[in-house]
Amino acid sequence: MFQLFLPLNFLGFVYREIKASVANIERMFTLLDVESQVPDKSEKALELKGGSVAFRDVTFAYGRGKPILRGLDFEVPAGRTLALVGGSGAGKSTITRLLFRFYDVDSGSVLIDGQSVADVSQTSLREALGIVPQDTVLFNDTLRNNLLYACPEATEEQLLEAVRMVSLDRLIKDSPDGLDAVVGERGLKLSGGEKQRIAIARMLLKRPAIMVFDEATSSLDSQTELSIMQEIRRVSAGHTALIIAHRLSTVVDADEIAVVGDGVIIERGKHDELLSSGGRYASLWHAQQRTETE
Ligand code: ADP
Ligand code: MG
Repeated sequence: MFQLFLPLNFLGFVYREIKASVANIERMFTLLDVESQVPDKSEKALELKGGSVAFRDVTFAYGRGKPILRGLDFEVPAGRTLALVGGSGAGKSTITRLLFRFYDVDSGSVLIDGQSVADVSQTSLREALGIVPQDTVLFNDTLRNNLLYACPEATEEQLLEAVRMVSLDRLIKDSPDGLDAVVGERGLKLSGGEKQRIAIARMLLKRPAIMVFDEATSSLDSQTELSIMQEIRRVSAGHTALIIAHRLSTVVDADEIAVVGDGVIIERGKHDELLSSGGRYASLWHAQQRTETE
């Protein structure tokens, strides 16, 4: 959806833009995702009531391509967790982009607390939403500033707490500059998993009403993944959460699990129900169990 390697001067521009505005990471996505910017239709702010999410009969294609979503319908009641699973290319990340209104739907609607995301200002939309994306981009800046983009008013204590929750406290203690270490080429080199953990820490700091995790722990080893998932569950309690899962074992206790395929929800239910009904979820589950024990 956006290129990781943009010309440096463009990134510099984006960076200044962000520093100049009330920075948050989603704004960076909109700025980076130039071709998909959609204008505000209304300056009306979203009226948050609890953060319920609903996709109603949503059809969507990228440009003139084949439809990716074909009458997709689901809802997440305020404060609940829905896990979205399904094969690669099924359209799961596309669903998150439509929720953030990076694109407008072709038909149907995407609603937050009953209001179409197309009918509210994007500023208010992004205040209500947070995402840990599939690929995290960090700025060539200090760890501290990378975290503060999400939540400029965070205190030192909150920053350290967030860092501890994603098990990066060791890394920060070991680095001579601590939170002021610069990340990137000439500074602290972070692995894919460490970048993911910074993105999760941003979410934990921002704690928006609606939290979206898109394969947010896919680069972590199973042990770290489980402990971070626990923190995510603790912090997201009472918030609406959409969790796109890579490993099904991380979403077994979601309030509901929906399997996306062929542009629609093929089946939905609790883990046990889906397992015993012996459908697509059950076969995905058994396939993963086999590869994990191999
Ligand atoms: P998932 O997250 O379930 O793996 P995606 O939502 O990323 O799936 O992609 C769904 C389909 O849409 C794929 O076939 C993918 O190739 C296509 N797609 C994703 N992003 C774009 C884009 N920006 N332009 C055109 N096609 C895209
Ligand atoms: Mg995806």
